[in-house]
Amino acid sequence: MISSIGNFLKNLFLQGTTDEIAEANRPIVRGYLGLAFLYYAIMVPVHFFALSGFHQFKMVFISLTATMVMAGGLWLARKPIRAHKLELIAGTANLAVLANVIFAVHTDYVISNLIYFPMMALAFAFTSVTIRMAITSITVVLGVLYFELRTDFLGQGEVYGYIGFATAICGLAFMSFLQRAIYVAIKAKEAAEAKLDKAESKLIEAERLNIAMSERAMTDSLTGLPNRRAFFAYLKTRTPKASGKCPDWLIALDLDGFKMVNDVYGHIVGDELLISVTQRLQKQGGEIAHISRMGGDEFNIILTGMPDEAACEAWCETLLQAIAAPYDVEGRLIQLSASLGSTKLTEGLASTSIIRNADYALLHAKKNGKNRAVIFTNEHEKIATQRFEIEDALRSADFPSEIEILFQPQVNLSQDQVVRAEALARWECPELGRIEPDQFIKIAEESGLISKITLAVLGKAIEALKSWDNPIPLAINLSGHDLLSNQVMDEIIEVLEASDLDPSLLEFEVTETAMMADTEKACINLKRLSALGYSVALDDFGTGYSNFNYLRELPIDKLKVDRSFVEDIGNPMTEKILHSLAVTASALGVDCLLEGVEDELQLIMAKRVGAHSVQGYLFGKPMESDQLTDVIDKQNNKPNEASNPEPNLRGIK
Ligand code: C2E
Ligand code: CA
Ligand code: CA
Repeated sequence: MISSIGNFLKNLFLQGTTDEIAEANRPIVRGYLGLAFLYYAIMVPVHFFALSGFHQFKMVFISLTATMVMAGGLWLARKPIRAHKLELIAGTANLAVLANVIFAVHTDYVISNLIYFPMMALAFAFTSVTIRMAITSITVVLGVLYFELRTDFLGQGEVYGYIGFATAICGLAFMSFLQRAIYVAIKAKEAAEAKLDKAESKLIEAERLNIAMSERAMTDSLTGLPNRRAFFAYLKTRTPKASGKCPDWLIALDLDGFKMVNDVYGHIVGDELLISVTQRLQKQGGEIAHISRMGGDEFNIILTGMPDEAACEAWCETLLQAIAAPYDVEGRLIQLSASLGSTKLTEGLASTSIIRNADYALLHAKKNGKNRAVIFTNEHEKIATQRFEIEDALRSADFPSEIEILFQPQVNLSQDQVVRAEALARWECPELGRIEPDQFIKIAEESGLISKITLAVLGKAIEALKSWDNPIPLAINLSGHDLLSNQVMDEIIEVLEASDLDPSLLEFEVTETAMMADTEKACINLKRLSALGYSVALDDFGTGYSNFNYLRELPIDKLKVDRSFVEDIGNPMTEKILHSLAVTASALGVDCLLEGVEDELQLIMAKRVGAHSVQGYLFGKPMESDQLTDVIDKQNNKPNEASNPEPNLRGIK
């Protein structure tokens, strides 16, 4: 009981108030301070002129102090302050007022002056910030009043009358405080709610801004489609459905020849075209396709509602037709096609594999003539898996120890002698076994690992040349990656210089396609080799796009005519074509070698068209080092056979 009363009192007197209630009280306290300030500011001269002597000094001093207290309070409470500070300001003002009243009563004890006490009680109660201050102020006022009631001046009846009157007034004062406190509490609640509303609306605004920003980060600015990032986020939400249910499909779309449109008509037309393509995609896609722009002329579509491959294929065909209809861009009629690669979102397949499969199918669509759709099949799956296995194995391969080279002879037709051999890479993968060069070279090129192979082959070739008693020149294949990387070329040249080899012992073979990405750079790097004395052969000649002017620019010493020409010996045009290729070589002042000579007929034709040399199974398949040295030794031991019109170099197998 006692402790609960204690708690009640503790709560009542010690607990402060909230800042919101203080803020609602502030205008009232300031009003009180303002009025009091005016009153005491007037009272200072009034006391000064009306009184004299010690009374004058005392009253002027106390009213001046009160004026200053009020002014200080007004200044401190000019902006929102913490609740306890406002309470302190109001309390100090009350003390100043009380001190003035006590001084006034003592200066001139007139019974009517006692009216100040109930008035003070009213004023203090009304301006109290907290209940503890209201009670304290009223109690102090009443206490002082009872102390000041002097029975020697007043009759007993008057004293009790005053006590009754003052107590009633104080009760009234307290009531007024309570009422006002309720009013202030309501105001404070409203203010707090308004503050909360404001904070909430700020929060909503911030959230809206956040959404707008992330939408922007997820949107392609040109087409308004979801961008690459948005696509990946969306794909994650499309969990592949269990088999038997209507699956989702991922379609990778790439426009055919869009780069050319950009180059020919400029980027503005290119952009317009992309927007038009987007509109067609959206029109056909409707509700069942989620279309994203992955960048450039690449789009990804997630298609729903296609039960099987046939349905997906039919949908893709319609899309291809829609895209192929002519576009009217700024008065120009432009024709465009697209290639599509699609794959089913299969259960248990990671999104990276899904994308990889669609891209793989797209690659096939491109390779098979473009303007078509290819669906990723089980067959593709097998090939792709194997390809990825090889790629992984290539990444971890130790090429200097795993790569071997074989040598395929090149025969000079006028001397009828093996004059050179092409070094061809062989890779025995520790995990996957022997892999065909056509396969691993292509994958190494696509995954940027080819230069390591080039350096390994170069190392082995130099090793072989140094180990042979009578070395014959070798030809090394360079890939586009090697030619277009200054760093790789530096490395190659460093190895060559360190080997201290006679440059006439090495030739470098490059294909036209290898140089296509940046002919200028490739040409500069080839010239570096040429300047050091190494000869250069243009490999697989006739399969690329070279024109005469471009060939003249290249520092080449030999054209290696692609095997496909010789293979086609049954075609009456073959000889004419080969002849014109040999004429081209002679016009350029370079040698002409025919690749893929497998039989006597092809050899006779090679001679007839004017080729300088040949390479092919007729003279030997790629062979081991000692086999080649045997051939060379035999050849060297029969010096007279060079003049023999029918030398027997055939049958080196
Ligand atoms: P390539 O440079 O055109 O090499 C000639 C390829 O044709 C060799 O295949 C060779 O065995 C084959 N060949 C030669 N004569 C005949 C013939 O009479 N009939 C037939 N059917 N084929 C013949 P290989 O060794 O399988 O190499 C395939 C391709 O792999 C090479 O074509 C070359 O592009 C690439 N390659 C091989 N080694 C390297 C290398 O060290 N570096 C680079 N970058 N590529 C290499
Ligand atoms: Ca070659
Ligand atoms: Ca070749």
